Amino acid sequence: MAIEKIKIRGARTHNLKNVSVDIPRNQFVVVTGVSGSGKSSLAFDTLYAEGQRRYAESVSSYARRFMDVLDRPDVDSIEGLSPSIAISQHTSTPTTRSTVATVTEIADYLRVLFAKVGVPYCPDHDVPLKKSGIHDMVDAALSLGAGARVMILSPVVRSAVADPDTVAGEMARRGFLRLRVDGEVCTVDALPVTDRGAVHSIEVVVDRLKITPEAKTRLADSFETAAKLSGGRTMLLNLSDGSIQAFNLHYGCPQCDYTIEDLTPAMFSFNNPLGACPYCEGTGIIEQFDPDIVVKDAALSIAEGAVCGYSRRNSARFAELRDLLARAGLSVETPWKDLPEWARVLVLDGDQKAAAKGAPRGLHYKGVIAELDLTWARARSESAKIGMRAMRRSCTCRHCGGERYRREVASVYLGEGASRVNIIGLMNMTLRQAAGQLESLVLSEQSRQIAEGPMDAIRKRIGFLCDVGLGYLTLSRQARTLSGGEAQRIRLAGQIGSALTGVLYVLDEPTIGLHQADCARLIATLKELVDNGNTVVAVEHDEEVIRAADFVVDMGPGAGELGGELVSCGTPQQVMDDPRSETGAYLAGRKAVTADRGVLENPLARTLRIVGATGHNLKGVTCDFPVGAISVVTGVS
Ligand SMILES: [Zn+2]
Ligand SMILES: [Zn+2]
Repeated sequence: MAIEKIKIRGARTHNLKNVSVDIPRNQFVVVTGVSGSGKSSLAFDTLYAEGQRRYAESVSSYARRFMDVLDRPDVDSIEGLSPSIAISQHTSTPTTRSTVATVTEIADYLRVLFAKVGVPYCPDHDVPLKKSGIHDMVDAALSLGAGARVMILSPVVRSAVADPDTVAGEMARRGFLRLRVDGEVCTVDALPVTDRGAVHSIEVVVDRLKITPEAKTRLADSFETAAKLSGGRTMLLNLSDGSIQAFNLHYGCPQCDYTIEDLTPAMFSFNNPLGACPYCEGTGIIEQFDPDIVVKDAALSIAEGAVCGYSRRNSARFAELRDLLARAGLSVETPWKDLPEWARVLVLDGDQKAAAKGAPRGLHYKGVIAELDLTWARARSESAKIGMRAMRRSCTCRHCGGERYRREVASVYLGEGASRVNIIGLMNMTLRQAAGQLESLVLSEQSRQIAEGPMDAIRKRIGFLCDVGLGYLTLSRQARTLSGGEAQRIRLAGQIGSALTGVLYVLDEPTIGLHQADCARLIATLKELVDNGNTVVAVEHDEEVIRAADFVVDMGPGAGELGGELVSCGTPQQVMDDPRSETGAYLAGRKAVTADRGVLENPLARTLRIVGATGHNLKGVTCDFPVGAISVVTGVS
């Protein structure tokens, strides 16, 4: 038979006076009473403390070392207790790395979502990466139709200058007879090229065959071999028209050699080396050469020494910049601030970043900062670094822009076109924006099905947080900067849909700081936890919450020494009918909160006068406060 009650006998924690009470399990229980009456002593220091202590005893001593085990409470006995989770307003020092997203577990589900349905893009070309299975390659070959003659190639050298003789020797050793060098098929011992330095692409001819329905297995074997040779890439050459289809077993850019591993959830966390920016190790901050110090005076020209260490006096480095700017149609005599933006980027960050700012093509330069980095890395002694150290400063990591993620990870998007979003964009959204973004995602039918599970979990948590008025928080907001009420509701969201059952949840004034309108939704959520087979015990003053409870425990009658007794307990109606219960009297309307003690006839008879206050933004304020009266100072924030 299921245990239906938690039986507390002889509780004496703090000011409790031998309290014995039966609390129904699997119900919504509110512990109420005046401040200091012993509500928290009963709910947190007795019920929760004992539940947590017993749970700790059931786990290994190793696991126990990682828990804050509470002292055994002063109580004769408690029966029918289950493992307990306290959701208080004061969390135990959350780390700087915990955020709204991590505490609510939304981050975990987002990682799964990105890993499962995220589309990786090339960070340089901004085109989606493609990958194919061996069966896709075989299908493509078969679709050319019976009788078509094809070649299966393995691109071992792509857009890189390699020594063709070495490649040919290596492939001959592995038993391959033919290569395709810059589009021309030849045997390994008779390369067609005369200019060895000008070779750009070499493919190994893995197979040549005529397509027949029976060729399926052979095609698969050949594609497999081709993929193995090149690290995943294969090509299908249709000999009848010379057309080529390229495939990649891994995600690869169709326009360059950029590839990434298969996506895993771990990649979408900057707390994990797989996802963290390798330069700042996921902190977003790095000690690096600061462009604002390297360029010491923007009014000077480069020739006059605008860029530290690159003035006319440093002849070799100066000459390089002079030639570079001359090729770009500019002059080193122009003041730094008058150079076009792309030219300043070109000088500091090199041609790749400058291209994005509209620099002409063909200006090869790696940039002053990169040169300084190299010199810094090569500097053997402290004395060699001294001059350079002055140009370094801890600042936002320029590799990840302070976003902490690896660029490979930042280039993975959910959805397509204008609605696409990466992990950084999503984390910087408010909960309400994120909900809208996820709903409007354009996903293929297949992706939609895969995404359903994690999407549902995210929707549930965000929905709850918006319902209790927290839609304005961003996912990346640090947990330690939240107010007590916010933090408690955030942690509650982590429990929603965690599907735990048989748990005793103990909450500390869950309505604190909550707008009246959001209160009903919070109550509904707590009841949902109960419906999932849990017991919820909340310490609470709010009338609406008390009325919504299945069972009320009224502590009192006074505070401190005058409290610590069980005044009344039962359903809200039973407590209302109990003549001993102060809470019941208010709930039933027999007593009312009243502030009507008359208005002072002449409040300004005696005053405290402030003359000409100018603190902060005050503009010479003079004002009288009545003595012996309550005054209210109000105004916009
Ligand atoms: Zn690319
Ligand atoms: Zn970084």
